[in-house]
Amino acid sequence: MTPTRREFLTRGSTALAGVACAPALRLVSARDHDLVIRGGTVFDGRGGEGIDGIDVAISGGRITAVGPSLAGRGAEEVDARGRAVAPGFIDIHSHGDGTLWDDPRAESLIRQGVTTIVVGQDGSSRAPSPRPASARAIVRGATGVSGRYESMSELFRALGALPPAVNVASMVGLGSVRRLVVGEADRPATSGELSQMRALVDAALADGACGASSGLEYAPGAFASREELAALCRPLAARGLPYATHMRNEDDRLIEAIDESIAIALAARCPLQISHLKTSGPRNWGKIGDALERIEAAKRSGLDVAFDRYPYVAYATGLTNLFPIWALDGGAQRFFARLDAADSAERIRRETLAKVEKLAGWNSIMITGVNDPADRGAEGQRLGDLAARAGLDPYQLTVGLMRRNDADVGTVVFAMSEENLRRFLAHPLGMVCSDGGAFATSGAARQGHPHPRGLGSFARVLGHYVRETKTLTLAQGIRKLTGFPASRVALDDRGRLAAGVAADVVVFDPSTIGDRATFAEPFQYAGGINLVVVNGIVALRDGERGERRSGTPLRASPRN
Ligand SMILES: [Zn+2]
Repeated sequence: MTPTRREFLTRGSTALAGVACAPALRLVSARDHDLVIRGGTVFDGRGGEGIDGIDVAISGGRITAVGPSLAGRGAEEVDARGRAVAPGFIDIHSHGDGTLWDDPRAESLIRQGVTTIVVGQDGSSRAPSPRPASARAIVRGATGVSGRYESMSELFRALGALPPAVNVASMVGLGSVRRLVVGEADRPATSGELSQMRALVDAALADGACGASSGLEYAPGAFASREELAALCRPLAARGLPYATHMRNEDDRLIEAIDESIAIALAARCPLQISHLKTSGPRNWGKIGDALERIEAAKRSGLDVAFDRYPYVAYATGLTNLFPIWALDGGAQRFFARLDAADSAERIRRETLAKVEKLAGWNSIMITGVNDPADRGAEGQRLGDLAARAGLDPYQLTVGLMRRNDADVGTVVFAMSEENLRRFLAHPLGMVCSDGGAFATSGAARQGHPHPRGLGSFARVLGHYVRETKTLTLAQGIRKLTGFPASRVALDDRGRLAAGVAADVVVFDPSTIGDRATFAEPFQYAGGINLVVVNGIVALRDGERGERRSGTPLRASPRN
Protein backbone atom coordinates (compact mmCIF):
# COMPACT_ATOMS: atom_id res chain seq x y z
CA MET A 1 0.00 0.00 0.00
CA THR A 2 2.60 2.55 -1.11
CA PRO A 3 0.38 5.64 -1.48
CA THR A 4 -1.06 5.24 1.98
CA ARG A 5 2.37 4.63 3.39
CA ARG A 6 3.55 7.82 1.79
CA GLU A 7 0.50 9.55 3.22
CA PHE A 8 1.56 8.38 6.64
CA LEU A 9 4.99 9.87 6.04
CA THR A 10 3.51 13.22 5.04
CA ARG A 11 0.84 13.30 7.69
CA GLY A 12 3.25 12.19 10.36
CA SER A 13 5.99 14.59 9.33
CA THR A 14 5.23 17.27 11.91
CA ALA A 15 5.29 14.75 14.69
CA LEU A 16 8.27 12.97 13.19
CA ALA A 17 10.38 16.09 12.77
CA GLY A 18 10.77 16.66 16.49
CA VAL A 19 11.50 13.03 17.15
CA ALA A 20 13.98 12.63 14.32
CA CYS A 21 16.10 15.67 15.14
CA ALA A 22 16.14 15.57 18.88
CA PRO A 23 18.32 12.51 19.71
CA ALA A 24 21.60 14.04 18.54
CA LEU A 25 21.26 16.76 21.12
CA ARG A 26 20.69 14.36 24.01
CA LEU A 27 22.84 12.23 26.23
CA VAL A 28 23.36 8.71 24.95
CA SER A 29 21.71 7.20 28.01
CA ALA A 30 18.52 9.26 27.71
CA ARG A 31 15.46 7.50 26.43
CA ASP A 32 13.53 9.32 23.76
CA HIS A 33 10.21 7.60 24.33
CA ASP A 34 8.54 5.68 27.12
CA LEU A 35 7.56 2.92 24.72
CA VAL A 36 8.00 2.21 21.03
CA ILE A 37 5.98 -0.47 19.22
CA ARG A 38 8.09 -1.36 16.17
CA GLY A 39 7.22 -2.47 12.68
CA GLY A 40 3.60 -3.59 13.10
CA THR A 41 0.71 -3.34 10.68
CA VAL A 42 -1.00 -0.22 11.95
CA PHE A 43 -4.76 0.36 11.77
CA ASP A 44 -6.00 3.90 12.39
CA GLY A 45 -9.35 2.81 13.89
CA ARG A 46 -11.34 4.81 11.34
CA GLY A 47 -11.64 2.02 8.81
CA GLY A 48 -8.32 2.59 7.04
CA GLU A 49 -6.52 -0.53 5.83
CA GLY A 50 -3.51 -1.68 7.80
CA ILE A 51 -0.14 -0.25 6.83
CA ASP A 52 2.89 -2.48 7.29
CA GLY A 53 6.17 -1.58 8.90
CA ILE A 54 4.97 1.34 11.03
CA ASP A 55 6.32 2.34 14.46
CA VAL A 56 4.22 3.85 17.22
CA ALA A 57 5.97 5.95 19.87
CA ILE A 58 4.40 6.69 23.23
CA SER A 59 5.43 9.12 25.96
CA GLY A 60 3.66 10.62 28.94
CA GLY A 61 0.50 8.62 28.29
CA ARG A 62 0.06 9.84 24.73
CA ILE A 63 0.95 8.65 21.28
CA THR A 64 3.71 11.02 20.22
CA ALA A 65 4.55 9.74 16.74
CA VAL A 66 3.34 7.21 14.18
CA GLY A 67 5.48 6.44 11.16
CA PRO A 68 8.10 4.19 9.58
CA SER A 69 11.50 3.79 11.26
CA LEU A 70 10.98 6.33 14.04
CA ALA A 71 14.21 7.69 15.44
CA GLY A 72 15.11 7.45 19.10
CA ARG A 73 14.85 4.58 21.54
CA GLY A 74 12.08 3.70 23.90
CA ALA A 75 12.63 2.85 27.55
CA GLU A 76 10.64 -0.18 26.47
CA GLU A 77 10.53 -1.51 22.93
CA VAL A 78 8.11 -4.04 21.47
CA ASP A 79 8.66 -5.89 18.20
CA ALA A 80 5.27 -5.95 16.46
CA ARG A 81 6.36 -7.24 13.05
CA GLY A 82 3.65 -9.48 11.60
CA ARG A 83 1.15 -8.22 14.16
CA ALA A 84 -1.79 -5.83 13.95
CA VAL A 85 -1.46 -2.60 15.95
CA ALA A 86 -4.79 -0.92 16.70
CA PRO A 87 -6.37 1.57 19.08
CA GLY A 88 -7.48 -0.11 22.32
CA PHE A 89 -10.94 -1.62 22.01
CA ILE A 90 -13.95 0.29 23.32
CA ASP A 91 -16.99 -1.51 24.70
CA ILE A 92 -19.92 0.80 24.06
CA HIS A 93 -22.40 -1.26 26.10
CA SER A 94 -20.68 -2.80 29.11
CA HIS A 95 -21.63 -4.03 32.56
CA GLY A 96 -17.96 -4.36 33.47
CA ASP A 97 -18.31 -1.95 36.40
CA GLY A 98 -20.23 -4.63 38.31
CA THR A 99 -17.03 -6.25 39.58
CA LEU A 100 -14.57 -3.34 39.56
CA TRP A 101 -14.99 -2.61 43.26
CA ASP A 102 -14.24 -6.25 44.07
CA ASP A 103 -11.46 -6.66 41.54
CA PRO A 104 -10.31 -3.61 39.58
CA ARG A 105 -7.97 -5.63 37.35
CA ALA A 106 -10.75 -6.11 34.75
CA GLU A 107 -8.78 -9.16 33.72
CA SER A 108 -11.21 -10.61 31.15
CA LEU A 109 -11.36 -7.24 29.38
CA ILE A 110 -7.65 -6.46 29.31
CA ARG A 111 -7.01 -9.96 27.97
CA GLN A 112 -9.28 -9.18 25.01
CA GLY A 113 -7.62 -5.85 24.26
CA VAL A 114 -10.43 -3.77 25.76
CA THR A 115 -9.10 -0.49 27.17
CA THR A 116 -12.35 1.48 27.64
CA ILE A 117 -15.80 0.44 28.84
CA VAL A 118 -18.97 2.51 28.60
CA VAL A 119 -21.17 1.61 31.57
CA GLY A 120 -24.43 2.90 33.03
CA GLN A 121 -26.41 0.90 30.49
CA ASP A 122 -29.97 -0.39 30.23
CA GLY A 123 -31.30 2.52 32.29
CA SER A 124 -29.16 1.65 35.29
CA SER A 125 -26.15 3.73 36.33
CA ARG A 126 -24.13 3.92 39.56
CA ALA A 127 -24.99 7.59 39.80
CA PRO A 128 -27.18 9.33 40.68
CA SER A 129 -28.07 7.08 43.56
CA PRO A 130 -29.41 7.72 47.06
CA ARG A 131 -26.92 7.48 49.87
CA PRO A 132 -26.87 5.29 51.81
CA ALA A 133 -27.92 3.17 48.87
CA SER A 134 -30.49 0.53 49.64
CA ALA A 135 -31.65 -0.34 46.18
CA ARG A 136 -30.51 -3.71 45.00
CA ALA A 137 -28.38 -3.79 41.91
CA ILE A 138 -30.50 -4.41 38.82
CA VAL A 139 -27.71 -5.93 36.84
CA ARG A 140 -26.35 -9.23 38.10
CA GLY A 141 -22.71 -9.10 38.96
CA ALA A 142 -23.13 -5.68 40.53
CA THR A 143 -21.82 -5.78 44.05
CA GLY A 144 -24.78 -4.87 46.18
CA VAL A 145 -24.61 -1.26 47.27
CA SER A 146 -20.88 -0.62 46.94
CA GLY A 147 -19.87 1.60 44.06
CA ARG A 148 -23.10 3.62 44.02
CA TYR A 149 -22.77 7.39 44.14
CA GLU A 150 -24.92 10.44 44.57
CA SER A 151 -23.55 12.18 41.51
CA MET A 152 -21.63 11.37 38.36
CA SER A 153 -18.69 13.50 39.50
CA GLU A 154 -18.50 11.45 42.72
CA LEU A 155 -18.55 8.26 40.68
CA PHE A 156 -15.73 9.58 38.51
CA ARG A 157 -13.77 10.62 41.58
CA ALA A 158 -14.17 7.14 43.07
CA LEU A 159 -13.06 5.52 39.81
CA GLY A 160 -10.04 7.79 39.72
CA ALA A 161 -9.09 6.70 43.22
CA LEU A 162 -9.64 2.98 42.54
CA PRO A 163 -8.23 3.00 39.74
CA PRO A 164 -9.35 0.18 37.45
CA ALA A 165 -7.18 -1.36 34.73
CA VAL A 166 -9.51 -0.02 32.02
CA ASN A 167 -10.89 3.44 31.34
CA VAL A 168 -14.52 3.91 32.33
CA ALA A 169 -17.09 6.22 30.75
CA SER A 170 -20.67 6.22 31.97
CA MET A 171 -24.11 7.02 30.70
CA VAL A 172 -26.74 8.29 33.09
CA GLY A 173 -29.43 5.65 33.56
CA LEU A 174 -32.98 6.95 33.13
CA GLY A 175 -34.26 4.02 35.20
CA SER A 176 -31.94 4.98 38.05
CA VAL A 177 -33.15 8.56 37.82
CA ARG A 178 -36.78 7.41 37.91
CA ARG A 179 -36.14 5.14 40.88
CA LEU A 180 -34.63 8.06 42.74
CA VAL A 181 -37.48 10.49 42.04
CA VAL A 182 -40.64 8.44 41.41
CA GLY A 183 -39.70 5.15 43.09
CA GLU A 184 -40.71 1.68 41.96
CA ALA A 185 -44.32 2.45 41.09
CA ASP A 186 -45.94 1.98 37.69
CA ARG A 187 -47.43 5.45 37.18
CA PRO A 188 -46.67 8.55 35.14
CA ALA A 189 -44.30 11.09 36.67
CA THR A 190 -45.90 14.34 37.86
CA SER A 191 -44.66 17.51 36.24
CA GLY A 192 -42.68 18.30 39.38
CA GLU A 193 -41.03 14.89 39.26
CA LEU A 194 -40.31 15.31 35.59
CA SER A 195 -38.38 18.53 36.15
CA GLN A 196 -36.55 16.94 39.07
CA MET A 197 -35.53 14.01 36.86
CA ARG A 198 -34.49 16.32 34.07
CA ALA A 199 -32.31 18.30 36.46
CA LEU A 200 -30.59 15.07 37.50
CA VAL A 201 -29.95 14.15 33.85
CA ASP A 202 -28.62 17.64 33.17
CA ALA A 203 -26.29 17.48 36.16
CA ALA A 204 -24.94 14.07 35.14
CA LEU A 205 -24.22 15.30 31.62
CA ALA A 206 -22.55 18.42 32.96
CA ASP A 207 -20.36 16.12 35.06
CA GLY A 208 -19.29 14.24 31.92
CA ALA A 209 -21.78 11.41 31.41
CA CYS A 210 -21.56 10.34 27.77
CA GLY A 211 -25.25 9.75 27.05
CA ALA A 212 -28.50 8.65 28.67
CA SER A 213 -29.62 5.04 28.72
CA SER A 214 -32.98 3.38 29.14
CA GLY A 215 -33.93 -0.20 29.97
CA LEU A 216 -37.56 -0.45 28.95
CA GLU A 217 -37.91 -4.13 29.79
CA TYR A 218 -36.85 -3.51 33.39
CA ALA A 219 -38.71 -2.03 36.33
CA PRO A 220 -38.93 0.84 37.11
CA GLY A 221 -37.49 2.19 33.82
CA ALA A 222 -40.23 0.45 31.85
CA PHE A 223 -42.88 2.60 33.53
CA ALA A 224 -41.69 5.69 31.61
CA SER A 225 -43.82 6.80 28.67
CA ARG A 226 -42.21 7.90 25.44
CA GLU A 227 -43.12 11.52 26.27
CA GLU A 228 -41.28 11.25 29.58
CA LEU A 229 -38.26 9.69 27.86
CA ALA A 230 -38.21 12.37 25.17
CA ALA A 231 -38.33 15.10 27.82
CA LEU A 232 -35.44 13.51 29.74
CA CYS A 233 -33.40 13.12 26.53
CA ARG A 234 -33.71 16.76 25.53
CA PRO A 235 -30.53 17.82 27.38
CA LEU A 236 -28.59 15.39 25.15
CA ALA A 237 -29.30 17.38 22.00
CA ALA A 238 -27.04 20.35 22.66
CA ARG A 239 -24.19 18.03 23.58
CA GLY A 240 -24.64 15.71 20.61
CA LEU A 241 -24.70 12.72 22.98
CA PRO A 242 -26.86 9.67 22.34
CA TYR A 243 -29.98 8.24 23.86
CA ALA A 244 -28.97 4.56 24.20
CA THR A 245 -31.88 2.25 24.62
CA HIS A 246 -32.54 -1.31 25.60
CA MET A 247 -35.85 -1.12 23.81
CA ARG A 248 -39.26 -1.91 25.21
CA ASN A 249 -39.38 -5.12 23.24
CA GLU A 250 -36.92 -7.20 21.21
CA ASP A 251 -39.22 -9.94 19.93
CA ASP A 252 -42.89 -9.82 18.88
CA ARG A 253 -43.11 -6.03 19.07
CA LEU A 254 -39.59 -5.31 17.84
CA ILE A 255 -40.68 -3.08 14.97
CA GLU A 256 -42.96 -1.00 17.23
CA ALA A 257 -40.08 -0.70 19.71
CA ILE A 258 -37.72 0.55 16.98
CA ASP A 259 -40.37 3.07 15.90
CA GLU A 260 -40.74 4.24 19.50
CA SER A 261 -36.96 4.65 19.90
CA ILE A 262 -36.75 6.69 16.71
CA ALA A 263 -39.74 8.82 17.78
CA ILE A 264 -38.10 9.58 21.14
CA ALA A 265 -34.79 10.60 19.55
CA LEU A 266 -36.56 12.73 16.93
CA ALA A 267 -38.63 14.47 19.61
CA ALA A 268 -35.52 15.09 21.73
CA ARG A 269 -33.41 15.94 18.65
CA CYS A 270 -30.59 13.77 19.97
CA PRO A 271 -28.60 10.90 18.43
CA LEU A 272 -30.00 7.40 18.92
CA GLN A 273 -28.00 4.31 19.85
CA ILE A 274 -30.05 1.11 19.80
CA SER A 275 -28.44 -1.23 22.30
CA HIS A 276 -27.78 -4.90 21.50
CA LEU A 277 -30.10 -4.95 18.48
CA LYS A 278 -31.59 -8.38 17.88
CA THR A 279 -34.57 -10.27 16.49
CA SER A 280 -35.41 -12.47 19.43
CA GLY A 281 -37.35 -15.72 19.12
CA PRO A 282 -37.37 -17.84 15.95
CA ARG A 283 -40.74 -16.50 14.85
CA ASN A 284 -39.27 -12.97 14.72
CA TRP A 285 -36.11 -13.75 12.77
CA GLY A 286 -37.82 -12.77 9.53
CA LYS A 287 -38.25 -9.20 10.80
CA ILE A 288 -34.61 -8.26 10.28
CA GLY A 289 -35.19 -6.68 6.87
CA ASP A 290 -38.00 -4.50 8.19
CA ALA A 291 -35.99 -3.60 11.31
CA LEU A 292 -32.94 -2.47 9.32
CA GLU A 293 -35.13 -0.64 6.80
CA ARG A 294 -36.70 1.47 9.60
CA ILE A 295 -33.27 2.36 10.93
CA GLU A 296 -31.87 3.16 7.48
CA ALA A 297 -34.91 5.30 6.65
CA ALA A 298 -34.46 7.27 9.88
CA LYS A 299 -30.80 7.77 9.00
CA ARG A 300 -31.68 8.95 5.50
CA SER A 301 -34.16 11.43 6.96
CA GLY A 302 -31.41 12.97 9.10
CA LEU A 303 -31.46 11.14 12.42
CA ASP A 304 -28.00 10.33 13.76
CA VAL A 305 -28.71 6.66 14.47
CA ALA A 306 -26.54 3.59 14.99
CA PHE A 307 -26.72 0.33 16.89
CA ASP A 308 -24.54 -2.19 18.64
CA ARG A 309 -24.60 -5.93 19.01
CA TYR A 310 -22.65 -8.63 20.85
CA PRO A 311 -21.33 -11.55 18.78
CA TYR A 312 -23.43 -14.37 20.26
CA VAL A 313 -26.89 -15.82 19.62
CA ALA A 314 -27.92 -16.01 23.28
CA TYR A 315 -28.74 -13.02 25.45
CA ALA A 316 -28.29 -12.68 29.21
CA THR A 317 -30.91 -11.24 31.51
CA GLY A 318 -32.55 -11.78 34.86
CA LEU A 319 -34.98 -14.65 35.30
CA THR A 320 -37.52 -11.90 36.12
CA ASN A 321 -37.52 -11.15 32.38
CA LEU A 322 -39.55 -14.33 31.83
CA PHE A 323 -42.42 -12.93 33.90
CA PRO A 324 -44.88 -10.21 32.82
CA ILE A 325 -43.71 -6.72 33.71
CA TRP A 326 -46.98 -5.80 35.50
CA ALA A 327 -46.35 -8.65 37.94
CA LEU A 328 -43.05 -7.05 39.00
CA ASP A 329 -44.54 -3.63 39.71
CA GLY A 330 -43.50 -2.62 43.22
CA GLY A 331 -40.57 -4.99 43.60
CA ALA A 332 -39.86 -8.59 44.55
CA GLN A 333 -42.15 -8.82 47.59
CA ARG A 334 -45.15 -7.53 45.65
CA PHE A 335 -44.31 -10.06 42.94
CA PHE A 336 -44.32 -12.94 45.42
CA ALA A 337 -47.60 -11.71 46.88
CA ARG A 338 -49.14 -11.78 43.40
CA LEU A 339 -47.88 -15.35 42.95
CA ASP A 340 -49.73 -16.23 46.18
CA ALA A 341 -53.01 -14.61 45.12
CA ALA A 342 -55.11 -17.05 43.11
CA ASP A 343 -56.39 -14.62 40.44
CA SER A 344 -53.06 -13.00 39.60
CA ALA A 345 -51.11 -16.28 39.99
CA GLU A 346 -53.00 -17.89 37.12
CA ARG A 347 -52.49 -14.89 34.85
CA ILE A 348 -48.76 -14.74 35.63
CA ARG A 349 -48.46 -18.44 34.85
CA ARG A 350 -50.32 -18.11 31.55
CA GLU A 351 -48.31 -15.14 30.33
CA THR A 352 -45.01 -16.69 31.42
CA LEU A 353 -45.78 -19.94 29.59
CA ALA A 354 -46.62 -17.93 26.48
CA LYS A 355 -43.25 -16.20 26.70
CA VAL A 356 -41.44 -19.53 27.12
CA GLU A 357 -43.22 -20.92 24.09
CA LYS A 358 -42.14 -17.89 22.10
CA LEU A 359 -38.54 -18.63 23.09
CA ALA A 360 -38.96 -22.21 21.82
CA GLY A 361 -39.14 -23.95 25.19
CA TRP A 362 -37.68 -24.21 28.69
CA ASN A 363 -34.35 -25.51 27.45
CA SER A 364 -33.72 -22.20 25.69
CA ILE A 365 -33.03 -20.78 29.16
CA MET A 366 -29.80 -21.51 31.07
CA ILE A 367 -29.31 -20.45 34.69
CA THR A 368 -26.06 -18.52 35.14
CA GLY A 369 -26.14 -17.06 38.64
CA VAL A 370 -27.98 -17.61 41.93
CA ASN A 371 -27.75 -16.18 45.45
CA ASP A 372 -28.83 -19.20 47.47
CA PRO A 373 -25.86 -21.60 47.84
CA ALA A 374 -28.36 -24.47 47.80
CA ASP A 375 -29.13 -23.60 44.17
CA ARG A 376 -25.49 -23.51 42.99
CA GLY A 377 -26.02 -26.78 41.15
CA ALA A 378 -28.48 -25.04 38.84
CA GLU A 379 -25.76 -22.78 37.41
CA GLY A 380 -24.89 -23.78 33.87
CA GLN A 381 -28.07 -25.89 33.56
CA ARG A 382 -31.14 -25.47 31.33
CA LEU A 383 -34.52 -25.05 33.01
CA GLY A 384 -36.13 -27.93 31.11
CA ASP A 385 -33.34 -30.33 32.08
CA LEU A 386 -33.37 -29.16 35.70
CA ALA A 387 -37.11 -29.75 35.97
CA ALA A 388 -36.90 -33.18 34.33
CA ARG A 389 -34.14 -34.22 36.70
CA ALA A 390 -36.03 -32.94 39.74
CA GLY A 391 -39.31 -34.46 38.54
CA LEU A 392 -40.94 -31.01 38.73
CA ASP A 393 -43.11 -28.94 36.46
CA PRO A 394 -40.66 -26.42 34.86
CA TYR A 395 -42.86 -23.45 35.80
CA GLN A 396 -43.00 -24.52 39.44
CA LEU A 397 -39.25 -25.08 39.46
CA THR A 398 -38.72 -21.59 38.03
CA VAL A 399 -40.99 -19.96 40.61
CA GLY A 400 -39.12 -21.85 43.34
CA LEU A 401 -35.80 -20.48 42.08
CA MET A 402 -37.24 -16.96 42.09
CA ARG A 403 -38.52 -17.27 45.65
CA ARG A 404 -35.37 -18.81 47.13
CA ASN A 405 -33.14 -16.25 45.42
CA ASP A 406 -35.23 -13.18 46.13
CA ALA A 407 -36.00 -12.77 42.40
CA ASP A 408 -32.29 -12.29 41.65
CA VAL A 409 -31.35 -15.10 39.26
CA GLY A 410 -29.13 -14.67 36.19
CA THR A 411 -29.92 -16.44 32.91
CA VAL A 412 -28.81 -16.70 29.31
CA VAL A 413 -31.47 -17.31 26.68
CA PHE A 414 -30.74 -18.93 23.32
CA ALA A 415 -33.17 -17.20 20.99
CA MET A 416 -31.29 -15.58 18.12
CA SER A 417 -30.33 -16.30 14.55
CA GLU A 418 -26.69 -16.65 13.49
CA GLU A 419 -27.44 -15.35 10.01
CA ASN A 420 -29.10 -12.23 11.43
CA LEU A 421 -26.19 -11.71 13.81
CA ARG A 422 -23.83 -11.55 10.83
CA ARG A 423 -26.07 -9.05 9.07
CA PHE A 424 -26.12 -6.81 12.15
CA LEU A 425 -22.35 -7.00 12.58
CA ALA A 426 -21.68 -6.28 8.90
CA HIS A 427 -24.19 -3.42 8.63
CA PRO A 428 -22.58 0.03 8.17
CA LEU A 429 -24.55 1.41 11.16
CA GLY A 430 -23.66 -1.56 13.37
CA MET A 431 -20.83 -1.71 15.90
CA VAL A 432 -19.76 -4.21 18.52
CA CYS A 433 -20.53 -4.34 22.21
CA SER A 434 -20.16 -7.07 24.81
CA ASP A 435 -23.15 -6.29 27.07
CA GLY A 436 -21.06 -8.34 29.50
CA GLY A 437 -19.25 -7.98 32.80
CA ALA A 438 -15.57 -8.03 33.74
CA PHE A 439 -14.45 -11.36 35.12
CA ALA A 440 -11.35 -13.22 36.18
CA THR A 441 -10.62 -16.93 36.23
CA SER A 442 -9.66 -16.60 39.88
CA GLY A 443 -10.30 -14.17 42.73
CA ALA A 444 -13.27 -11.97 43.51
CA ALA A 445 -14.28 -11.47 39.88
CA ARG A 446 -14.85 -15.17 39.32
CA GLN A 447 -18.60 -14.89 39.85
CA GLY A 448 -21.49 -17.16 38.89
CA HIS A 449 -21.61 -18.80 35.50
CA PRO A 450 -21.62 -15.79 33.19
CA HIS A 451 -22.46 -15.37 29.53
CA PRO A 452 -19.12 -15.86 27.72
CA ARG A 453 -19.39 -12.44 26.08
CA GLY A 454 -17.69 -10.80 29.07
CA LEU A 455 -14.58 -12.87 28.33
CA GLY A 456 -14.70 -13.29 24.56
CA SER A 457 -16.68 -10.73 22.53
CA PHE A 458 -13.87 -8.66 21.06
CA ALA A 459 -11.52 -11.53 20.31
CA ARG A 460 -14.51 -13.41 18.87
CA VAL A 461 -15.30 -10.65 16.39
CA LEU A 462 -11.69 -10.55 15.13
CA GLY A 463 -11.23 -14.32 15.19
CA HIS A 464 -14.57 -15.82 14.24
CA TYR A 465 -16.29 -13.04 12.30
CA VAL A 466 -13.26 -11.49 10.60
CA ARG A 467 -10.85 -14.38 10.05
CA GLU A 468 -13.06 -17.47 9.96
CA THR A 469 -16.39 -16.40 8.46
CA LYS A 470 -15.12 -13.26 6.68
CA THR A 471 -18.25 -11.39 7.74
CA LEU A 472 -16.07 -8.28 8.09
CA THR A 473 -12.65 -7.22 6.88
CA LEU A 474 -10.02 -6.71 9.58
CA ALA A 475 -10.07 -2.92 9.06
CA GLN A 476 -13.88 -2.83 9.32
CA GLY A 477 -13.85 -5.03 12.39
CA ILE A 478 -11.27 -2.84 14.12
CA ARG A 479 -13.27 0.32 13.32
CA LYS A 480 -16.39 -1.23 14.89
CA LEU A 481 -14.36 -1.88 18.07
CA THR A 482 -12.59 1.50 18.21
CA GLY A 483 -13.22 4.65 16.19
CA PHE A 484 -16.92 4.09 15.58
CA PRO A 485 -17.94 3.62 19.24
CA ALA A 486 -15.59 6.43 20.38
CA SER A 487 -17.28 8.88 18.02
CA ARG A 488 -20.77 7.85 19.23
CA VAL A 489 -20.07 8.81 22.83
CA ALA A 490 -17.77 11.78 22.21
CA LEU A 491 -14.58 10.19 23.47
CA ASP A 492 -12.55 12.30 21.06
CA ASP A 493 -9.21 11.31 22.53
CA ARG A 494 -9.83 7.56 22.12
CA GLY A 495 -10.48 5.05 19.37
CA ARG A 496 -7.83 6.42 17.06
CA LEU A 497 -4.22 5.63 16.44
CA ALA A 498 -2.54 8.92 15.62
CA ALA A 499 0.02 11.28 17.11
CA GLY A 500 -1.48 13.36 19.91
CA VAL A 501 -4.24 11.08 21.21
CA ALA A 502 -4.28 9.10 24.45
CA ALA A 503 -2.10 6.00 24.23
CA ASP A 504 -4.59 3.15 24.41
CA VAL A 505 -3.12 0.54 22.07
CA VAL A 506 -3.54 -3.15 21.41
CA VAL A 507 -1.16 -5.42 19.47
CA PHE A 508 -2.53 -8.76 18.35
CA ASP A 509 -1.94 -11.60 15.94
CA PRO A 510 -4.75 -11.61 13.34
CA SER A 511 -4.00 -15.25 12.53
CA THR A 512 -4.55 -16.51 16.10
CA ILE A 513 -6.76 -14.00 17.93
CA GLY A 514 -9.89 -15.69 19.21
CA ASP A 515 -12.29 -16.29 22.07
CA ARG A 516 -12.10 -19.40 24.24
CA ALA A 517 -14.94 -18.77 26.70
CA THR A 518 -17.99 -20.92 25.98
CA PHE A 519 -21.48 -21.17 27.47
CA ALA A 520 -20.44 -24.38 29.20
CA GLU A 521 -16.97 -23.16 30.29
CA PRO A 522 -17.06 -19.37 30.39
CA PHE A 523 -13.97 -18.79 32.55
CA GLN A 524 -11.40 -18.89 29.77
CA TYR A 525 -9.50 -15.85 28.57
CA ALA A 526 -9.22 -14.88 24.93
CA GLY A 527 -5.99 -15.65 23.06
CA GLY A 528 -3.82 -13.96 20.45
CA ILE A 529 -3.33 -10.61 22.24
CA ASN A 530 0.35 -9.65 22.49
CA LEU A 531 0.31 -6.23 24.08
CA VAL A 532 -2.25 -3.95 25.71
CA VAL A 533 -1.38 -0.37 26.64
CA VAL A 534 -3.73 1.81 28.70
CA ASN A 535 -2.87 5.52 28.92
CA GLY A 536 0.70 4.75 27.91
CA ILE A 537 1.24 2.08 30.57
CA VAL A 538 1.67 -1.58 29.66
CA ALA A 539 -1.31 -3.51 31.06
CA LEU A 540 -0.50 -6.82 29.37
CA ARG A 541 2.57 -8.07 27.52
CA ASP A 542 2.91 -11.63 26.22
CA GLY A 543 0.39 -12.94 28.72
CA GLU A 544 1.91 -11.15 31.73
CA ARG A 545 0.02 -8.39 33.51
CA GLY A 546 1.74 -5.06 34.09
CA GLU A 547 2.15 -3.91 37.66
CA ARG A 548 0.13 -0.71 37.42
CA ARG A 549 -3.57 -0.28 36.78
CA SER A 550 -3.73 2.82 34.62
CA GLY A 551 -7.39 3.21 33.67
CA THR A 552 -9.08 6.52 34.27
CA PRO A 553 -12.63 7.88 34.31
CA LEU A 554 -13.49 9.35 30.92
CA ARG A 555 -15.77 12.35 30.55
CA ALA A 556 -17.46 12.94 27.21
CA SER A 557 -15.91 15.79 25.24
CA PRO A 558 -18.17 18.84 25.13
CA ARG A 559 -19.71 19.47 21.70
CA ASN A 560 -21.59 22.37 20.26
ZN1 LIG B 1 -29.73 -4.50 27.80
